[in-house]
Order: sequence, then C-alpha cells, then structure tokens
Amino acid sequence: MLAELKRIAILSHTNPDGDALGSSLALAETLRSTGHTVYCIVPNRFPYYLKWIPGSESIIVHSLDKEQRAEQVISEADIIICADMSAISRLEKLSEVIEQNTTARRVLVDHHLNPEQGFDVIFSHPESSSTALVMYHIIVELFGKQAISKRIAEQLYVGIMTDTGNFAFSFLTPELFRVVAELAETGIDIPTLYNNVYNSFTEGRARLFGYVINRKMKTLLQGRVAYLSLTEEEMRRHWFQQGDSEGFVNYPLTIKKMKMSAMFSEQQGFIRISFRSRGNVDVNTFARRYFNGGGHKNAAGGKSFDPMEQTIQRYIEAVNEYHDEGLV
Ligand code: 5GP
Ligand code: MN
Repeated sequence: MLAELKRIAILSHTNPDGDALGSSLALAETLRSTGHTVYCIVPNRFPYYLKWIPGSESIIVHSLDKEQRAEQVISEADIIICADMSAISRLEKLSEVIEQNTTARRVLVDHHLNPEQGFDVIFSHPESSSTALVMYHIIVELFGKQAISKRIAEQLYVGIMTDTGNFAFSFLTPELFRVVAELAETGIDIPTLYNNVYNSFTEGRARLFGYVINRKMKTLLQGRVAYLSLTEEEMRRHWFQQGDSEGFVNYPLTIKKMKMSAMFSEQQGFIRISFRSRGNVDVNTFARRYFNGGGHKNAAGGKSFDPMEQTIQRYIEAVNEYHDEGLV
C-alpha cells in the first residue's frame, strides 16, 4: 500500500488524549520522512498540557478549522488511517467528512475492545496498553528500529505513559518495558516528559479538583461505587480549560474498597461520561449497555442526552442492576 508516495490523513478521536496525539504524530513523522504527504486531524481541541508534544502544532483541529483544510485533506487522501479509536462515530462531526471520500483505503490502528468493521486493514490489539505501543511495532516492522528518532520516541512515550497511567494500569508486559527501553536509548528525558503532562496544570484546575472531590463525590453500594459531576456553571467558576477534568474520575479508585467510578461533565447539548473500574468490574460492557459508549474493561466512556439529574438517576439505577447481576 505504501510502495508509491501517497497522500495520507491520520485521524483520531474526539477529546484527543496523549495516546491519540502521540501515536498519530509518530506515524505521521515516520511516513513523512519516507516522502509521503501526511496530515493529522482531530475533531476538537486537545488539552493545553499536551501542546508541547513535538509536531502537535501541525495538527488540524476540525472544530477550529475555518479554511476547511480537514475537508480538503480528507477528500484528497489515498489512505485514511484511524488511530486510537474503535468506531468511526468517535470522530463525531468529522465522521460525515470521511464518508464523502469513498475511494481512500481505510486503516485502523487501535487497542480498544470491539473494533468496528468496515476498514480495509485492521491492526486491533485490545491486549496492548496503548495505541502508541501498537504504532511502535508497525513503525519498526515497516522501517526498522533506526526509524525511531528521539522525536518519535517522545511522541510514542507520551502515548504509553498517559494510557498506562504512568505504568500503573493493566497490560504492563515485559515486552512493553523492552519497547520503553528502546525509546530510552534514543535519549528521551523521561522526567521532563512526565512533568510536561502531569505537573503543568493551572491553579484553576487544582482548585476545581479539590472542589469536585470534596463537594461532588457521591458514593453508592456502601462506598464501593462512586460518581462525580461537573456542570458548565461549576467549570466556568473555576476558569475551566479543555482537559482540566481529565483524570478526576480515577481519584475515587484511590479508596481501597472502591470498585467503580464515573464522572459526568456537562458539555454543549449532552453529558460526557467517563468510567473507571478495578479488577473484574467491566465498565466497557457497562458503558455499552447503558450509555451508548465503550472503551476498555477498566476505562470506558459514553454519552447521555438527558439532563444531569436524570443522567445520574439512570446511572444509579444501572449500578443497582449491575449489582443485582453480581457484576459489581
Ligand atoms: P475517557 O474517560 O478517558 O474519555 O475514555 C476512556 C476510554 O474509553 C478511552 O479509551 C476512550 O477512547 C474510550 N471512550 C470514551 N468515550 C467513548 C465513547 O463514547 N465510545 C467508545 N466506544 N469509547 C469511548
Ligand atoms: Mn489509547
């Protein structure tokens, strides 16, 4: 597929995270260095604490793209690569744009459960802790280890670090650490990469975090299930910037007996939901069954088009049903 020079669009999911950006940028950089024309496109803005990632300034953000560059790049593309997402619907409005190009070959590179059909080539690895790790293997397979420059190593490392919660979540295989050793060989500065993501927030974010945990964390099932919520008004009051509430949902799981956590955040026209769980509690199934979402067994997301109070009520009922079935 890559024998001739191609025009390639690399797309990733709404609310792009470190893995979406890092894995897309690393592949883009590698393909560009071999002569292909490559653009990375994301549906909406990414958080300010990811803006230092090398190459991120070149990403086309569809929601801010007044010149319709995303439309043009996608309509001219020979290959469309979707990275770090298992369903086209995760592109939201951008999914309509890609439907208009019916000739491009479609490739999926991902690590979520239940990948959608309809791609010409699928690299789906739900047993991989990040898409960046899958991307590392694809790059090495195509171009050899010498293709991994320090910049590419930085891009891949961000994806691996953020999706593993800095090497704390599932799928921490020996093979993952061998890849990290290869990335370290390029001279990347690991503490700086950590600080760039995790010690780069605003004061507003720190205060919002305190407020949410202190005032908005509620528990169910004798403290084994939690939920947090944030309204638009509460966000405004804390000078909210995109990305400021990422990771809050993990915090209830620092409580020893906690099995499952959810975070509801009000967006324009819907409520975005994040789910996290421990061990055998499966939030991928929970998100798919009750909130039209999905993801991984211990980290998933979904949406609700009901108002906040009703959404939370539905969550409470769903948790009770899940509990009755012995699933939490
Ligand atoms: P987060 O809570 O960090 O937004 O998402 C957790 C995980 O679930 C991520 O891997 C993300 O890609 C996935 N995810 C989030 N929202 C959705 C959704 O609406 N549908 C599906 N299928 N996956 C989602
Ligand atoms: Mn990912």
